[in-house]
Parts: sequence; structure tokens; C-alpha cells
Amino acid sequence: MKNEFVSSVFRNIAELLEINEDNPFRIRAYIRAADNLDALKIDIEDMIAEKKLEDVPGIGHDLASKIKEIVKTGTCQQYEDLKKIIPEGVVALLQVPSVGPQSARLFFDKLKIASIDELKTAATKGKLSGLPGIKDKSVANILKGITLLEKGLRDMDVLTATTVAEGFVEKLRALAKKEKIVPAGSLRRMKDGIHDVDILIASNHPQEIIASFLAGPGVKKILAQGPAKSSILTDSDQQVDLRVFKPQSFGAGLIYFTGSKNHNIRLRQLAIKKDYKINEYGVFDKKNKCMASKTEEEVYKALGLDFIPPELREDTGEIEAALNHELPELISLGDIKGDFHVHTNYSDGENSIEEMARRAHELGYQYICLTDHSASLKIARGLSPADLKKKKKEIEKVQKRLKKIRILFGTEVEIDAQGSLDYKDSVLKEFDLVVAAIHSGFKQSKEQLTRRIVRACENKYVHIIAHPTGKLRVTRDSYEIDFKEILKVARQTNTALEINAHPYRMDLSDIYARAAKDNGVRCAIDTDAHNTGHLEYMKFGVGLARRGWLEKQNVLNSLSLPELLKTIKK
Ligand SMILES: [Zn+2]
Ligand SMILES: [Zn+2]
Repeated sequence: MKNEFVSSVFRNIAELLEINEDNPFRIRAYIRAADNLDALKIDIEDMIAEKKLEDVPGIGHDLASKIKEIVKTGTCQQYEDLKKIIPEGVVALLQVPSVGPQSARLFFDKLKIASIDELKTAATKGKLSGLPGIKDKSVANILKGITLLEKGLRDMDVLTATTVAEGFVEKLRALAKKEKIVPAGSLRRMKDGIHDVDILIASNHPQEIIASFLAGPGVKKILAQGPAKSSILTDSDQQVDLRVFKPQSFGAGLIYFTGSKNHNIRLRQLAIKKDYKINEYGVFDKKNKCMASKTEEEVYKALGLDFIPPELREDTGEIEAALNHELPELISLGDIKGDFHVHTNYSDGENSIEEMARRAHELGYQYICLTDHSASLKIARGLSPADLKKKKKEIEKVQKRLKKIRILFGTEVEIDAQGSLDYKDSVLKEFDLVVAAIHSGFKQSKEQLTRRIVRACENKYVHIIAHPTGKLRVTRDSYEIDFKEILKVARQTNTALEINAHPYRMDLSDIYARAAKDNGVRCAIDTDAHNTGHLEYMKFGVGLARRGWLEKQNVLNSLSLPELLKTIKK
């Protein structure tokens, strides 16, 4: 299907037109057409063949002819003409959070800035200040945005890293059928932001494995190669390191290459205290006799430690806890009984109520809460009170067919700029469960943003605050909030804070999740799914919760259905 390609060209044209300060209606027309093409379930080439292109909403004669041109030639004249006026590097500037079309144009016109690197240099050298409308604070924001972008683009999110790792593990599985193959490194620790993928294999035939790994598909460039290790770049420029260990030293290798660096330093110190030595092959005594190496458990035990789950290996107290046999019993995916934050095609989701509920049942859940957006979030087709009545009726209908999973009637209600909610209390009380969220007005002061969340917690119909700090991996840092104050109020009002498991969000962070636990505030791990596939992001949220030391009792959706219904009753 070329739908996606055509819509991406339309979006690029819209950006170029914006920088070029073209007619806003024209710009809007391209964006709308791109949205409609993305939502279209029919192949655009079929529509051209059947001469039905102009049936698509928002596509008139002019855009239809451009679509045909793009499908046929891969581009269109208007796009090419615009690119001659505005270099592509100027469009790239829009990726920097806080740089809009107007400032991109300004930087290009006044300083000939046509790349992110050039923007960074100019900002650092103080050349941006003094341009019309650019204050010192804007320059600071631009630099902050560039740092965030560079980091976000350099590191993989957990979904990308998992997908890359699984692809290679599957290929290697054909060679080493019974051997252990484990993705290690920061991916195994479920860190948000993964620099490269490390894969470890236990095998007595390293050369065979390395040779076939390097010859396999998906390898663009070999970065390094040795008898038992190699490093490559994938077709999409992700770095994958493969290391082969003898089965008898696999445990030691796994600890070594899972990290973190700080955790391993502590292990080395503990070994020295015992007059031992530890490396990637095992724990050895003074006479070089191997004390432990085959499994991680054995290696930890030799150092006097309980087994430490990978997600805790950051030297943030796990060593002390393992020495004292006080490690937490971390939440696991199997403990999760449902998902509270899920969209359907009533708002901006792709699947129906029934499809979402069926998939949740297949995942073994006891309940699913369908939280479409509230009325004021127009871009996400928020629901009016009339829509809500219709949705409630449909849930009741589907519930009659699906007896084995409880479908909860929910909402993701907007918290407005003052902290009021988008629905009146008389509407809110009709929901089984209410998730409240901020989607706009991020530029307010720390006090104002905190106040908004606090007020939402104080509403007795609100159960959960969604993505509480508003961060997006590449494009938006957390907004500034007084998290201590929020924890205090969340505890008083028995409001749960969400761990949003969507790979682009991962919000709360591990540090905040742990603070929630330490302050007696419950978390809810939600996927924010917009289609049935997204429901499987739960594993990423659980990984993050484990990094935050969360146990079953700290997580709202570990409750069974009867327990949950009791808890959310207001
Ligand atoms: Zn949201
Ligand atoms: Zn949502």
C-alpha cells in the first residue's frame, strides 16, 4: 500500500508551506488529507484504478491529481518546487521541541541556519538572542530540546530494541536450538533509552555461530569481529553485539554483559573483600579455582547475595537488599489482571469495543477499562455526553456476549488549564472508572501545573492520573511539577498514578515510580492502547515498574475483579 507514503509527502508539503508562511487553509487541507489517507483501509492504488479517489473526505480534484502524480512518479512538482525554496535541513529544525515554523524560517532567513547542528552552534555562541521574538529563555529551551532530540534519536526505545533483539534471537535459534540465547545489556534491565542490543549465546561452537550471524540477513555493516564475538550495524543503523560463551560460564557472562556498570563495580568490590576475583568467566579464588560461573544464581550466591533481578541492577540499593535478604518480590506480567487506559474507535482508537475486550480476554485479563477522550480534546475526537450514552449502551450489549471479561465504562478526561475537568460531576459519576490527564497548556509554571493535577486528584470521581509528567521520549521532556506535593495529595485522596507503558511515553519514570511506592501511593500500569496490538505494551510498563521496585500490592491492576470493584467504588 502506498497510502502511508503519499500521506508522508503531504505532511512534508504542509510543513514546507508552513515555513513558507503559506495560506493556513491550504496547509490545513494537506494535513487533513494526510490524516484521512492514514485512516483509509483501502489501497489507494485500487481507488485510483476505480476512479474513486475523490470519494475520500477532504480530497478534491486538485489533491487527487497530486496523489496520482506521487503514486506514479514518487513525488510531485509542487513538493519539488518547495524544496528548492526551503532546504530540507530547515524542515529538520521542526523536530527540535520548541522550534516552530516561524522560528525555523527566521533562523534560515537571518542566519542561513539549515541543519540542527548549525542551530546548536548558533545557540551556543549566543547568535540567536536578539533576533525578533527570541528571548534568552527561548535559546535555553532550544538547547534543551536539541539535547533531548539527540539522545532520543541516538538511543532506541524499548519497543524498537525488543523488536531488533527478537529478530536476531529467532535467526540464531535455528543454529543453537537448545542453547540459551538471551538479550542482555540495558534492554534486559528494561532501561528507557537503549544504545545497542547485546545478545549472549551459550555454545561450544562460537565460530559457526558468529559466521552465520554475520552472513545473515539484516546485517548492513560489520563493525568488529573476533573468535567469540562480533558487532554489526543493522539495515536501520542499530548496533547489535553478539557474544558466545561456553555453557559453563554463561551465568558469569550474563551478569557481566547485563550490567549496569555501577552494579558490576559493586560486585567486584564484594569479590575483593572475600579475596576473590570476578570477571565475565566466573568468580575465582586466589589459586584461580572457579567458585561459580554457570548460572547467575550461583555467581550471586558465591558473593553472599540473593539473586538480583536484572531491572534492579543499577546500584541503587539492590546490593544491600540482596545481602540482607530483603529484595522486593517484584511485580510480574502474570500478576496483571487488566488494563485501565485503552482507546476504542469511539475516539481516536482503531478497534471496536468488542475487539479490544476480546483481545484483553485472550491476554488473560479479568477486566478492561475503555477510556476514550473527553469532549474538549477535538483532535482526538473526544466524546460528547450524547456519544457517552451510545457508548455505554454498546458496552452493555457487548458485555452480554462476552461473559468472561468485565468491560468497564471509563474515560480519559481532560484536566483544563485551571485544573477543572471536562465533564461535570453528574457525568463523571456515571463512569465505572475515571482516568484524568493533561494534554495541553504544558508551558504553565510549576505551581500551576502542580495545582491542576492536585485539583484533579481531589475530585472524588477520579481514580487515576494518566501519564503524570507529560514526557514524550524524543519530543517532550517532563513538565515541571512538584512531585512531592502530588504524592502527598494522591495518597490523601487514594488516587493512583499511572505508569504509561506506551514506548514513546514510559511515564512515570522508574525514579518517580519508586518514590510513589515509598510514599504509599499506588500505581496503575496502563498501555494507552489505540489498537489491539498496543495492549501488548503491558510488558514494557511492567519492566518499568520493576525498575521502580514495585511489588504486587503497589499496583492497582494486580487486584482481582471483585477487589478492584470494591476499591474503585466512590
Ligand atoms: Zn493521554
Ligand atoms: Zn490515552
